[in-house]
Amino acid sequence: MTRDTLVKNASIPAESASAMPIPYESTEFDTHVMATYGRFPIALERGVGCRVWDTSGRDYLDFVAGIATCTLGHAHPALIETVTRQIQTLHHVSNLYYIPNQGELAKWLVEHSCADRAFFCNSGAEANEGAIKLARKYAHTVQEIEKPMIVTAKASFHGRTLATITATGQPKYQKNFDPLMPGFFYVPYNDIRAMEAAVTELDEGDQRVTAIMLEALQGEGGVRPGELEYFLRLRKICDETGILLIMDEVQVGIGRTGKYWGYEHLGIEPDIFTSAKGLAGGIPIGAMMCKTFCDVFEPGDHASTFGGNPLACAAALTVAQTLEQDNILQNVQERGEQLRARLRAIALKYPSVFVEVRGWGLINGLELSAETELTSVDVVKAAMERGLLLVPAGPKVVRFVPPLIVSTEEIEAAAEVVEGAIAALVS
Ligand code: PLP
Repeated sequence: MTRDTLVKNASIPAESASAMPIPYESTEFDTHVMATYGRFPIALERGVGCRVWDTSGRDYLDFVAGIATCTLGHAHPALIETVTRQIQTLHHVSNLYYIPNQGELAKWLVEHSCADRAFFCNSGAEANEGAIKLARKYAHTVQEIEKPMIVTAKASFHGRTLATITATGQPKYQKNFDPLMPGFFYVPYNDIRAMEAAVTELDEGDQRVTAIMLEALQGEGGVRPGELEYFLRLRKICDETGILLIMDEVQVGIGRTGKYWGYEHLGIEPDIFTSAKGLAGGIPIGAMMCKTFCDVFEPGDHASTFGGNPLACAAALTVAQTLEQDNILQNVQERGEQLRARLRAIALKYPSVFVEVRGWGLINGLELSAETELTSVDVVKAAMERGLLLVPAGPKVVRFVPPLIVSTEEIEAAAEVVEGAIAALVS
């Protein structure tokens, strides 16, 4: 498919697209903004649906969606209407007072998950911090553990605060930030023997495992789905020992996998789970969801100034209601299957370059072989030059996380771009 066809399929005037990205003049930006991110050399200034435009007027098909965040794409009419109405009415008050739409959002989340209560904050890391604090308080006040341990997985990702980089089982995120938090231990993901051994070995003197914290599918760690058998056995261990199971649903929750929550693919219910990213479609919000034992938290134990403010809750309610009304989970399942089928066909064409296509719903990874010199960044750059935004998930996995409203034509257009990019890279 040519670039013109791609543009036409997305109902964008062909003349709006230029041939190659024009690098953003970033000197001023770099002078004033801390250099904590490696950035691609474009600046995005507007978007509609699954398409975004950079400051030079060039358009891109957006299969990054703010890294699995813009659930309803860009400039969705329902989100525009809600956010406009809410900011004209009341956008922020303190949790010193009742916030009615926070209660409505909590009700929706409780009715559409295994949880009984919600706590709202602003990000994934903050939601995970809340879960860690709750587990520790439960350890001290109910489990009578003096030195509570939390077991997490190697290659996991749980955030960038001090507690969550410690929970994250990847040394590269921890380097030079020590001393880290005490009380964490790491085991390989999907390895039940390693988990059993850890739970036994960590039971020593005043120390015991209070919680196990895992992603249902490791996103940053390379789009690796959890295995059903592993999680079923894990749940059994937790039930037998009283260990809490915390699921980090920050990247996969609220519909991205074709079900509301990633744990639904694994036949289990967690005791605590966290959500953020896609929950309000790009308006900052985080949530920690829990069964009734969360009542160990008392007034004063945990708080967040912005957490669950009327603006964020209005946006999240609109995302939730739109997912339901427009039957978007079905779209996620169907478009996900379509995408994986197309990517598998491409991978088969280049067996020395790719090893696997994997994922659930609309979080998918294309893994490059260890033998090829190509990296995920090479593929991402080549796709960007051809008008498609993708994001790496580690050095060898290219991640596809488009808005959940993506169309059949847009999936096909993205696959065509990937095919063209690979052909050019291997030629
Ligand atoms: N947990 C998971 C599984 C994530 O993927 C992320 C972000 O990528 C986080 C936590 C951290 O979320 P945030 O960046 O909103 O703090």
